[in-house]
Amino acid sequence: MAKILIAEDEKAINDLIRINLTLAGYECKQVFDGQEALNTAFENKFDLVLLDVMLPKLSGFEIIQELKGTPVIFVTARSAVSDRLKGLKLGADDYIVKPFEMLELIERVKAVLRRTKGETRQFEFDDICIHLDDRRVFKNGIEIALKPKEYDLLEAFINNRNIALSREKLISLVWDFDYEGDTRTVDVHVQQLRRKLGLSERIQTVYKTGYRLQL
Ligand code: CA
Repeated sequence: MAKILIAEDEKAINDLIRINLTLAGYECKQVFDGQEALNTAFENKFDLVLLDVMLPKLSGFEIIQELKGTPVIFVTARSAVSDRLKGLKLGADDYIVKPFEMLELIERVKAVLRRTKGETRQFEFDDICIHLDDRRVFKNGIEIALKPKEYDLLEAFINNRNIALSREKLISLVWDFDYEGDTRTVDVHVQQLRRKLGLSERIQTVYKTGYRLQL
């Protein structure tokens, strides 16, 4: 889990960022002035610092020069182009101007972490690792070639894991809602997934209904 330092002196904004990033799955530490930000950044290793520019004691522009190697996104009310340029010149990875949409902040955080950590969205269980961004599947570290619909079916199972899914539901998730084909198409693809990935135990047949990925 990526660790993020939030340096922002307006408590309400700091709290709002913390709550949203925590919900998005990040571990957050809050600080409220520049000196505290610097001390905390030296004591712990963070994957990213969200750095307000106008902070008590030390400004964000002063702090970033000490944070060598730690990715930084400036979060600031200053919107002047010269400030933006200064922030980026000082090595910030991105720059967000207040007020901002929380979803935008989260997307930018994700983007910076992807760039800086090479972080990709992955889902793992047993010896299987699925790279969700580029739709690749690995078993024991060896890539397994899946056809597009087999991959879509696998992702549908993962998104609905531990839930019994009818063949009709699976068709609506993987094929088109108005798909007219035989529900046996689902059976064939399930068999392929079981065989290729060794999931005969995990993908269970649910009597008279369909299938369930049991994790
Ligand atoms: Ca401030």
